[in-house]
Amino acid sequence: MARLTALQLYKYLPAKNCGRCDEATCMAFAIRLLEREKKAVDCPELTDNGLERLEDAITPSVRDVEFGAGENKITVGGEEVICRHELRFFGSTPFFIDVSDLMDEKEIIKRTKFAQEFEVERIGQILKLQGVSIRCASGDSKKFSETVSKVAKDFSGALILCSFDPSILRAGVEIVKERKPLLYAANKENYTEVLEIAQEYGTPLVVYSDKIDELGSIAKEMSSRNFKDIILDPGAELRGSGLAKTLNKFTMLRKSAVKGVKELGYPLMCSTVSLWMGFKGSSEGERMSLAYTESTAASMLLDRFASLLVLHSIDVWAILPLVTLRQNIYTDPKIEPSVEAKLYEIGTPDESSPVIITTNFALTYFNVSGDLDNAKVSCYLLVIDTEGLAVTVSVAAEKMNASTINAALKESDVENKVKHHKLIIPGAAARLKDEFEDETGWEIIVGPNDSSQLSNFLIKENL
Ligand code: SF4
Repeated sequence: MARLTALQLYKYLPAKNCGRCDEATCMAFAIRLLEREKKAVDCPELTDNGLERLEDAITPSVRDVEFGAGENKITVGGEEVICRHELRFFGSTPFFIDVSDLMDEKEIIKRTKFAQEFEVERIGQILKLQGVSIRCASGDSKKFSETVSKVAKDFSGALILCSFDPSILRAGVEIVKERKPLLYAANKENYTEVLEIAQEYGTPLVVYSDKIDELGSIAKEMSSRNFKDIILDPGAELRGSGLAKTLNKFTMLRKSAVKGVKELGYPLMCSTVSLWMGFKGSSEGERMSLAYTESTAASMLLDRFASLLVLHSIDVWAILPLVTLRQNIYTDPKIEPSVEAKLYEIGTPDESSPVIITTNFALTYFNVSGDLDNAKVSCYLLVIDTEGLAVTVSVAAEKMNASTINAALKESDVENKVKHHKLIIPGAAARLKDEFEDETGWEIIVGPNDSSQLSNFLIKENL
């Protein structure tokens, strides 16, 4: 489905240029709509009919679905393209940790705590898990409800409630209704009852079927009943050749959605829990092997359009590649990740500390500052605005040049913080040494190419 242009969207607007949406003109509003910085309802001049038409026009190929409450609200889906470079991806895949009502209390607390506390910092962002998925494996409504209460007490994030029995789902959602959990799942047998629960409690639901045509027909039926907060689970075989079939199925579903097949235009979820069925927990080797398989399969699914993933393993080494890959996939490819260009103090620098220059490309900054931190070097790190480009590229593109360095030196006032005038530049900028010296009047010292060598370099050069 071709993405509308701002001019095409403009035709859906009242063309009054009244400014009531806080934009000067309707065209400016259309541009903000395209960028998803405004919603159709932000134009109070639209009639009910006009609003419906506009909302229909801007609904992405993969509809966005919200659940959770307050600061733990999650939006999944919202995609319009197959490949990230065509636009960007929007609904960063949330990760949920699996809890079953047959687990003992100690295990439930351990898993809930892991989901709550897991966090890792990478290129300036804190990467976390988003929720807990509570599975009724006992078939006992009372036991399931007790587990939902236990998890809800210790965990503040988003929740998924899992059972194919509508009465069990109803008992669970009643306990956490204010947290707007996601209901899993409606299938061809139960979808009327599960839909009733979702409509009554205002929650989204998952439709499950391993047959694509069945998934589509249930979703279409729900849509005809004016319910569109749907996530699709096409089932997942994750072992051997089953994994290839699963990846093909996910790809086919995304392609259909982007081509405009409305009944398949919903986010996709995948649970890796089936991999662990039959595991008795006695063999550490088998557990590690399953966690490895799970992490590998989940990485592939993350890459092949899974909008939501439920994971069983709580090994940090198995989760780490997933949060890292997710961060990479869901960054906007048009914007280089960057940090603020300014003077940073590493450790406790004084007037004789070295002054080192680098660029504001986030990966470069965090590598250089991390290496200096780890080596316990106290220094001033002057970060130049190179529009997020790394050193080699910024030198080639002349984003790191004599005048940008001179301006950064002046703006940072670093010359009044140190008693020397020695500036260490990256090895990759060596050819600009004389130019820098002429422009700044500072003595330019060419540092190593690799920031991990900086500490030894400073000792060797007595800096
Ligand atoms: S409120 Fe509506 S009609 Fe007025 S400028 Fe904004 S988009 Fe145009």
